[in-house]
Amino acid sequence: MHEFQCRKHCGACCIAPSIKHPFFGMPHGKPAGVMCSNLDKNSMQCTIWNTSHYPNVCKQFAPDIDICGKNRDQALEIISTLELDTIPSSSSKTKNK
Ligand code: SF4
Ligand code: SF4
Repeated sequence: MHEFQCRKHCGACCIAPSIKHPFFGMPHGKPAGVMCSNLDKNSMQCTIWNTSHYPNVCKQFAPDIDICGKNRDQALEIISTLELDTIPSSSSKTKNK
């Protein structure tokens, strides 16, 4: 088993998912597909990592090949799909089977 390392200049997990609870810089939470205001647009790195403002929800997220994919586009796609699949009480969710 090898440990997956977060890719540089990705930031997909700070864009694709929604974060329901308010946190520093995002007083209304973060809608899916919206770049977190704490993400540096040039470096695609979190500007509040390792500070007291860093939210628990982000602390709990660990890079994983199944989520991060092989590149940024894959990560955005996978996380967006997971996002849709995990919306609570989404009765309009379409099923292919
Ligand atoms: S999606 Fe994965 S590789 Fe990309 S920034 Fe997030 S943890 Fe890192
Ligand atoms: S607080 Fe940092 S790690 Fe969390 S979503 Fe925003 S930029 Fe990403």
